[in-house]
Amino acid sequence: MRRSSDRKEIPIIVREAFKRAADLILPFKCPVCGGVSDINERFGNYDRLYTALYGTEPELHICGKCLSMLDASDEDKRWFLCLSNPVENDPCPGLALYMPFPYKGIAERAIPAIKFGKNKELARLFGTVLGSSLAREGIRADLIVPIPLSEERYAERGFNQAYEIAYPVAKIPFPWQKTAL
Ligand SMILES: [Zn+2]
Repeated sequence: MRRSSDRKEIPIIVREAFKRAADLILPFKCPVCGGVSDINERFGNYDRLYTALYGTEPELHICGKCLSMLDASDEDKRWFLCLSNPVENDPCPGLALYMPFPYKGIAERAIPAIKFGKNKELARLFGTVLGSSLAREGIRADLIVPIPLSEERYAERGFNQAYEIAYPVAKIPFPWQKTAL
């Protein structure tokens, strides 16, 4: 009987060397699935909008497979009541959430990549997509306010994902107030 240590495994150092060589040949990695991303599959209008908003080119290279999962919900399925069971004396009756994408596929994978993978550019992509969707549907707002992040969490992550998502949303059709909360 063979012990597991007897198996012919590729040493980690060799695997790492192959990986680094592959990274040099194919340097763009999809931040959502971790697969190799073809530069030509970059998000079409996103590059133009990003440059207009931030003054630099984006460094995001989402693969075509993940991009193909970015399917918006039907228009009549984008609004959700905050309270599914309305309460008496609700100060904001009918308060609703707008969700252009279902929480599955690329969105389900991207949110952890933003929050725990510290991927600021991915947050900006979703902010741009959300802002474009709101503008396209003619949805207006008086003010956009990102939910603040604790100083401890900000130091750990390096950015506030709510701010990064809200900023392009605000810059596309809405006014902006960073510190209202
Ligand atoms: Zn991908």
